Amino acid sequence: MEKSLLKQILHEYEEKRNKATLLAEKRKQELLAVNPRLSEIETELSQISLQTTKAILLASENEKEKLLSDLKKKTNALIKEKSTFLKSLSKDSDFLNPQFECKMCKDTGYVLREGVSKMCTCLKQRIYDVAYNKSNMGNLEIENFSTFDYRIFSDKINKELYKSNISPRQNIKLIREKVQSFIDNFDDPAEKNLLFTGNTGVRKNLSY
Ligand SMILES: [Zn+2]
Repeated sequence: MEKSLLKQILHEYEEKRNKATLLAEKRKQELLAVNPRLSEIETELSQISLQTTKAILLASENEKEKLLSDLKKKTNALIKEKSTFLKSLSKDSDFLNPQFECKMCKDTGYVLREGVSKMCTCLKQRIYDVAYNKSNMGNLEIENFSTFDYRIFSDKINKELYKSNISPRQNIKLIREKVQSFIDNFDDPAEKNLLFTGNTGVRKNLSY
């Protein structure tokens, strides 16, 4: 895949993330300005987060467990209070969180699967959309893998005509397998690109 295309799309993602974060911050400030209790809860929550860090770093082993469990209880109570409070204002409990377009990757484009960072389906789709629009392919609703018909390719071997030891049908089956594997391994950096070459109006050669 073109590096610049991925770079361009990741930049788009970064802007999406920044926008969602800024909007959330704006909603928060507006709400905090008119609802002082919410403001207190936010302050208490950030204090607890500091205390937790301190407890992890400084408390003795004996104290640590109790301290952390107390802090967790306090946090849960505050989060519950915050959520009830937001509900009373007819707002969802995640109203103050950034609203990302993709809940899975939070608009980063990557998700962790079994400890490994993988391209999110939304990013794959976005790359596909951009690349597809660039290539000006149309009719994908009709012309796609599910409607693919091998029978339109001859199963006769004709070395002279096709300059190949296999029939066009065998050839197209091989190409289809390669293309399918390319799609399945799209986010694998080791996967090689596909290159279709040939003049306009004639059959193309596929290199991989
Ligand atoms: Zn995603």
